[in-house]
Amino acid sequence: MKLKGSKLLNSQEIDHLINNRLNRVYFSKKIEPFYQQQYQNEAAYEFRVRGMIILILYALLSYGIYSVIPAGRDSILWLSLYSWVGIIILATWLLSFYKKFNQYFDLYTCISSTMAVAISFIIITMISDIQNNALLYESMMYTVIVIYAFVGMRFYTALWAGCGGGLIGFLITKLFDFNIDWTLLNRSYTYTSFLGMAMAYAIDRQHRENYLQNCIIELNHLEMQEQSEQLKLLAQQDSLTGLANRRHLSHVLEQEWHYALRHGQPLSILMVDIDFFKNYNDQLGHQAGDLCLTTIAKELSAVTNRSGELAARYGGEEFLLLFPMLDHQKITSLAAYLIHRIQNLKLPHPDSRISEFVTISIGAASIIPHPSNSLDQFIRSADTALYYAKEHGRNQFHISPCVVKAS
Ligand code: GH3
Ligand code: MG
Ligand code: MG
Repeated sequence: MKLKGSKLLNSQEIDHLINNRLNRVYFSKKIEPFYQQQYQNEAAYEFRVRGMIILILYALLSYGIYSVIPAGRDSILWLSLYSWVGIIILATWLLSFYKKFNQYFDLYTCISSTMAVAISFIIITMISDIQNNALLYESMMYTVIVIYAFVGMRFYTALWAGCGGGLIGFLITKLFDFNIDWTLLNRSYTYTSFLGMAMAYAIDRQHRENYLQNCIIELNHLEMQEQSEQLKLLAQQDSLTGLANRRHLSHVLEQEWHYALRHGQPLSILMVDIDFFKNYNDQLGHQAGDLCLTTIAKELSAVTNRSGELAARYGGEEFLLLFPMLDHQKITSLAAYLIHRIQNLKLPHPDSRISEFVTISIGAASIIPHPSNSLDQFIRSADTALYYAKEHGRNQFHISPCVVKAS
């Protein structure tokens, strides 16, 4: 998942945040650090374009102001001071290209914004006695609006930069006893500060809401993915035993057959049938029969645990096990082992003519497929082998052409 929030929160918690935390523009401790991390990465990325736009606007504004300040000491002083704002913007813009600094985006933009506001503040008080000084206040407005609404800081950081920068500027002004034109200052700095704050708040709130909505979308997507996986699994499973059903078996068999054909690899199957199962049901009831089927299925599943192997319910009390890569010799010992394994379960069978416990018969077939062979034929050969094992006394396996009795 892309958003950490979708891992940490469920839908109810996200709803709670949407309804209760958005107005504070600060999430709980559980989620805020992750949100900030995500946000700062995005904001730093966006700032690569925004920073350039801010620089262009800065250059145009500087040129405009410089051209109206009467040439002389004031214009040089103004330019030498205001160029620092440009240097700060440039440095901040360059920092946004270093991914490893993304985590400090709020910090470095806050420091540079504070400095930019403070410098803009000091300049207008230092050279406030020049003509057209209203223009200098406009440069201050520009700085304030940009840091609140365009840099991309979170609301509280922007608030600190806007107010802190103004405060630092004010204190320095007082220290050096510069002139402050409160009327112009209120019309520019104070007015734009309030406007900027409202904009920064709305942007931060909207951004948080979008983040939470995206978390919900991701969660829903994940839920749907899980459901579809589950449905897929269910469609492939036999509901009683949990083994693969016949449809899934056909699909896998087909795939493995073609793989073995292409690569000249062996492919083996075991057709397993419970002996005298009708009698078992008749004596102990259908429910006990079901339980017996499930128990046998677990054993079959245990011997098909390697990749590509599959145990499937083929019909009522018949199962088919698929073993890619196992040859004639290996499948022979596996069939013998399986017969013993089921015997050793010692499931009492009250009406079996051959044992006091439940037993199975197996028909095995092994092949390295050739284009002249067919899969149906191959399955039929296992079926015929099973029939042979039944005919020759059950509780045994037959792998064509010889019968091997279980001892
Ligand atoms: P054989 O040794 O020749 O295989 O004899 P059998 O009695 O096992 O063979 P048959 O095919 O006559 O009987 C199969 C029985 O399996 C009949 C049916 O009642 C039982 N059966 C099939 N599906 C289920 C099931 O889902 N649950 C239960 N409890 N019994 C089932
Ligand atoms: Mg049977
Ligand atoms: Mg049968």
